[in-house]
Amino acid sequence: MRQPQASVVILGGGPGGYEAALVAAQLGARVTVVDSDGLGGACVLTDCVPSKTLIATSETMVLLRGSASLGIEIPGAGGRGGGAGAGPAGPGERDWIDAPRLYRRVKDLAQAQSADVGTRLAAEGVEVVTGRGRLTRRTRPARLAGAHAVVVGDREIVADVVLIATGGLPRIIPTARPDGQRILTWRQLYDLDELPAELIVVGSGVTGAEFASAYQALGSQVTLISSRERVLPQEDADAAVVVEEVFKRRGMTVLSRSRAAAVRRNGGGVLVTLTDGRTVRGTHCLMTVGVVPAVGGIGLARAGVALNDRGFIDVDRVSRTSAPGVYAAGDCTGVQMLASVAAMQGRIAMWHALGEAVQPLRLDHVAATIFTEPEIATVGVAETMIESGQVRAEVVMLPLATNPRAKMQGFRDGFVKLFASPRSGRILGGVVVAPRASELILAVSIAVEQLLTVDQLAHTFSVYPSLSGSLTEASRRLMMPARPRAPFGEPAQ
Ligand SMILES: Cc1cc2nc3c(=O)[nH]c(=O)nc-3n(C[C@H](O)[C@H](O)[C@H](O)COP(=O)(O)OP(=O)(O)OC[C@H]3O[C@@H](n4cnc5c(N)ncnc54)[C@H](O)[C@@H]3O)c2cc1C
Repeated sequence: MRQPQASVVILGGGPGGYEAALVAAQLGARVTVVDSDGLGGACVLTDCVPSKTLIATSETMVLLRGSASLGIEIPGAGGRGGGAGAGPAGPGERDWIDAPRLYRRVKDLAQAQSADVGTRLAAEGVEVVTGRGRLTRRTRPARLAGAHAVVVGDREIVADVVLIATGGLPRIIPTARPDGQRILTWRQLYDLDELPAELIVVGSGVTGAEFASAYQALGSQVTLISSRERVLPQEDADAAVVVEEVFKRRGMTVLSRSRAAAVRRNGGGVLVTLTDGRTVRGTHCLMTVGVVPAVGGIGLARAGVALNDRGFIDVDRVSRTSAPGVYAAGDCTGVQMLASVAAMQGRIAMWHALGEAVQPLRLDHVAATIFTEPEIATVGVAETMIESGQVRAEVVMLPLATNPRAKMQGFRDGFVKLFASPRSGRILGGVVVAPRASELILAVSIAVEQLLTVDQLAHTFSVYPSLSGSLTEASRRLMMPARPRAPFGEPAQ
């Protein structure tokens, strides 16, 4: 007998929502995606895609700035040498940037990407409804078909399964309210018609560090306000130190152990007051102080969906909420705020809801990158887990400065670091700090996922010369039985 077609309603068209929709459609469900702000979500329209598009331009500026050391004389570039992006931006380099054109490119690319998502969903037969949706009270026991209902405008859509993937919103501090002109969230940057001359970035987590790095490279004078001892306090300490050193060498002012109490407009610019009374002036201020879940007004309490103590939707490892038949994925769950994790949570939800075999979400294999210059890419265990005794592992770290390809390219900031089990030799994780570390980390990611050992990676050919040669070299260092620690700089790569 033919099974009745399951119906799925998804609130939110970001990666958590649209990837789930594709899986559900593939499994034969009738799928409706309700989205208020554009397919692709904040990921595509305001956050991940636009920031990485901006960074594509800032990376090119870093290369141009270092070009003199590679023997290229750019008229008007000042002829400074010393490696890629070695020093501070020169006077007038901000004028190299056509800001309206840059921001137009960023927004056009985001719109095109959003349109691609729409095309893909349409091709899979997914219905898209534009508007703000909310759950209504469950009308029937959850085990029965059509147990849930979502309301959008005056339409009610009944479904067997609901997925909430409504994402997050920039956290707003009441004493530093963004005005969209001088005091900004990252979502408002691309509506400016100029590059900030003096940009104050409040918050030195991933988003703050990425924008500080990008705008510094584009020629803005950047002040980064960090409440902690160092930038990127949650990340690998060696990696954060490298990036902070690069920031400072390029002329960024990093105010550590400094907390912004208030930000206000001041004449033509902004004035940031720190909790200790010091003040910082600039032309613009970018607030990057976190993300809050977008869960207000969507009927969660009435539907029986519980929040955790941080205000995010409580989910288990197969994305179930406390309400039967209601799943949640992505930033609204606060599990790990990455597009890849949101997408995986969404897919897992659908596999589970529609009766497929499913492996619960594993966060210990997530590869992630911080798109500063140089980039920081990580996968697997963190060194803090080794230091605390939680994980037993050997650690090898090779600086990029000794890698022949890095020398040829004029890079000197960065390293590769591998963690391996001392008993089995299994690769447990790694950190790469390098230009395009986001690409290099795949080798470590495969090793972690496929339970490869240092011997197996060490016996794998890497190209000579290549940055990835440092990864195979690091494995060779780890496979030696009695390892006298050779000083850095001796490897063949
Ligand atoms: C500046 C920045 C850069 C980032 N860069 C990266 C990166 O390089 N790599 C990476 O992996 N991650 C990155 N992230 C994180 C990534 O953007 C998020 O993890 C991802 O967007 C989460 O996807 P989501 O589907 O949960 O939500 P979103 O992408 O936020 O999508 C949610 C959608 O739901 C809609 N919505 C909300 N409420 C309703 C409602 N009631 N009804 C209908 N629709 C609704 C919203 O309008 C939105 O369209 C970045 C984040 C930021 C802030």
